[in-house]
Amino acid sequence: ICPVEPGATVSDACASYADLDTLNTRLNPALHDLVSKTDFFSYYRLNLYNKKCPFWSDDEGLCGNIACAVTTLENEEDVPEIWRAEELSRLEGPKAHHPGKKEQRELERPLHGELGEDVGESCVVEYDDECDERDYCVPEDESASAKGDYVSLLDNPERFTGYAGEGAHQIWEAIYRENCFSKPSSSAQSQGAGGLAPPFGGFSGMQGQAAQDLRSVMKEHGRQLASQEGKFEDNMEFDDECLEKRVFYRVISGMHASISTHLCYDYLNQSTGKWGPNLECYKQRLHNHPERISNLYFNYALMARAAGKLKDYVQDYTFCTGDPKQDKRTKDMALKVANTIPAGPEIFDESVMFRENPLGDTGISLKEDFRNRFRNVSRIMDCVGCDKCRLWGKLQTAGYGTALKILFDFNNDQPASALKRIELVAFFNTLDKVSNAIKALGDFQRMLAEEKGVP
Ligand code: FAD
Repeated sequence: ICPVEPGATVSDACASYADLDTLNTRLNPALHDLVSKTDFFSYYRLNLYNKKCPFWSDDEGLCGNIACAVTTLENEEDVPEIWRAEELSRLEGPKAHHPGKKEQRELERPLHGELGEDVGESCVVEYDDECDERDYCVPEDESASAKGDYVSLLDNPERFTGYAGEGAHQIWEAIYRENCFSKPSSSAQSQGAGGLAPPFGGFSGMQGQAAQDLRSVMKEHGRQLASQEGKFEDNMEFDDECLEKRVFYRVISGMHASISTHLCYDYLNQSTGKWGPNLECYKQRLHNHPERISNLYFNYALMARAAGKLKDYVQDYTFCTGDPKQDKRTKDMALKVANTIPAGPEIFDESVMFRENPLGDTGISLKEDFRNRFRNVSRIMDCVGCDKCRLWGKLQTAGYGTALKILFDFNNDQPASALKRIELVAFFNTLDKVSNAIKALGDFQRMLAEEKGVP
């Protein structure tokens, strides 16, 4: 539902490469400011070390390179005051009483404006310890009692780490095979990777040329994996494609392509010790696979559309860094991002998804299945054996999960509590990653033209 050839346009769901490149020239600087110049968007709290891989022993495939390590903030004083554990608990006073989840559901009305005339906009404490049934990801626990680590995203850029080989392949295999390619099974609920997860049993019915195209892409993918690992072909089943399944595949493949672009663009030349773009890496992983580039653009369109839908939400949201001036600047920057994006569905039209299909799958069951698949991918991220890769893998899965929630579960009148702080941080940082990847592709294409001597 998005273009495969540069310059192509597919009107029913998203814009052309050229349209998206043009949008990105305006969006990229706004995003860069948002994620690099505000405390709110540059700190992420997540449980990086204390979650065991739920699917297999994660002692194998650990990455011992220094580049895989994450610098966490050991000292509470390095964390902005408002997010220190003591600050979080201090806020739970009568001034900013935060209703529990149950209470919130019963109230079903915006949190802001409910706190009394005299208190104005108050910062509220988040309870992130429950998994919300609308979440597409297993939420990271940002509550004060959780064993999470604050990470400065600016101090831990996504770049080449040297994490590769069997361990890394096992993760990608699990993500693609267990969540996309397995044969339909009778089990209704996803349980996870390693052969436990049923496939898209509920997805069916895509017909015609689109299905044909997708089958070729998937078969190609299958062939590559099969030739590499010698064990995939049996798990492939392409006869029950539908739009939702295809979208799921494209989101994952687009995320994979974004990670590949970042690691190729910020690559360590081990003979000179210098960091910089590696054109051969780009050729092998991206240029020779146009469908991967297409999936990256697809993700950009999807994320940008979701950001455009956040305009009113951001306008009403209270950013809490403890410094009103910074809070205002943060809101202005987030609004600038949202306002840069056209309001209509011309970039990406999500309304074509989760409709009842001719084979009787209801939109609700498709959505449920889609959400469960996505949660599985979140869980698989705990098996990544390189800390920095796990950090960005978890953040980006949460970012795409948040985008899907905004696209499919948001209406015009969302309460401020609809998104957790960490969901917002993950979402805008993920959009920034895809936006930087699109920009990097342009640089790689220019390098390639230079190499070929094209003026
Ligand atoms: P891989 O990228 O491991 O791919 C495996 C197979 O999947 C390929 O052979 C191909 O058949 C298929 N494939 C590749 N790309 C796509 C695509 N876009 N769509 C569909 N199919 C595809 N390394 C770093 O240096 N820095 C990082 O920050 C980093 N983060 C990572 C995060 C996660 C969650 C994971 C699982 C790995 C991460 N890695 C990172 C490792 C990196 O992604 C590669 O696994 C590693 O560089 C080895 O690459 P490869 O060429 O063997 O193929």
